[in-house]
Amino acid sequence: MSKKRGHFETAVIHEGYDSKNMLGSLTPPIFQTSTYTFETAEQGERRFAGEEDGYIYSRLGNPTVRILEDRIAVLENGEKGLAFGSGMAAVSAVLVALTKANDHIVCSSGLYGCTFGLLSMMKEKYNMKTDYIDMKTKAELRAAIRPETAVIYVETPINPTMRLVDLEMVAEVAKEHDIPVVVDNTFSTPYLQRPLELGCDVVIHSATKYIGGHGDVIAGLAVGKQSFIDLVARTTLKDMGGVISPFDAWLLLRGLKTLPVRLDRHCDNAEKIVEKLKKHHNIAHIYYPGDKHNPDFAIMEKQMKRGGGVISFEIKGDKKCAQKLLNRLAFMKIAVSLGDAETLIEHPATMTHAVIPAETRGEMGISDQLIRLSVGLEAWQDIWSDLEQALNQI
Ligand SMILES: *Cc1c(COP(=O)(O)O)cnc(C)c1O
Repeated sequence: MSKKRGHFETAVIHEGYDSKNMLGSLTPPIFQTSTYTFETAEQGERRFAGEEDGYIYSRLGNPTVRILEDRIAVLENGEKGLAFGSGMAAVSAVLVALTKANDHIVCSSGLYGCTFGLLSMMKEKYNMKTDYIDMKTKAELRAAIRPETAVIYVETPINPTMRLVDLEMVAEVAKEHDIPVVVDNTFSTPYLQRPLELGCDVVIHSATKYIGGHGDVIAGLAVGKQSFIDLVARTTLKDMGGVISPFDAWLLLRGLKTLPVRLDRHCDNAEKIVEKLKKHHNIAHIYYPGDKHNPDFAIMEKQMKRGGGVISFEIKGDKKCAQKLLNRLAFMKIAVSLGDAETLIEHPATMTHAVIPAETRGEMGISDQLIRLSVGLEAWQDIWSDLEQALNQI
């Protein structure tokens, strides 16, 4: 089991790597290799039989990738980590590993669009049904569980409505039924929230977002018990093949070093923008868990360090007004994704969540007036003045 060395801020820089083993190289080397040579045929046999440690082929393991996997395991306080070529590669590998045809999944209502797409595909192909519930009370969760329920899948904060699910509550109910809880921790990162410490079983990340943090890599991570992560490594990751490249793993190791520093600034900026948005006459509703008046603020205080860097808000007006707002921005970028240095703004109903049928979208609280803002690292005054001038024009 991994053990945290020092504080989180120290672990993001040092865990999983010792320069002594790499000719003193301060930063981890990029092992840009597809395969590994065996000294003898017998050694090859032993490696394949699992009788001898060592690398075989980079889809099965790579030293640069291993450093990242060891580091994220410590940061999430889990036994073992695994890296993937995208967040969706991590989500699909974990969900396929945990389920079989005709199983049932209970899911938080409101979900990353492609995860919703994956669950719809699994329903079509394998008759695997998913119930989307608010997950606000134990009674509601217990009522949704069936004998064939194989997974409880949670996003919190929920993208893009920023509602929260009480992870400790979910883990308690799951334990009663011996069902694993999988948490997509992309929006919070282990700096703000550590689901495994709250009793959940597997954590997934789109490392594309805050963990990479610079908008230059697509990648995913999963952390959990050694036995489960080993199973994923030798089945759904190895055989479906969604591996990460050594260079992308290196970019994530670099991004992780500044994660606490960046997230503190993201949160500071988001808090400032929320205060300003509240006073603007064209704003109908603000969704930010770090806001004292948010209905989920108590859950935020219980399980998160701070509210994070993403704000969603509804404007007064219709879809046309929402699009006009985006078009009138001066420096702020219209783009999906989040967690980058640049402030990014998007329209969930027509972009990230367009694959979800309009009616379901409505039930999830994703209206045509809803805007998602990933607050960047720029001066908050500049972010606000751009947003304010655009809001004044709708
Ligand atoms: C982006 C995202 C994903 C998918 O990750 P990719 O790296 O784009 O494959 C999954 N979950 C959440 C919450 C996300 O924001």
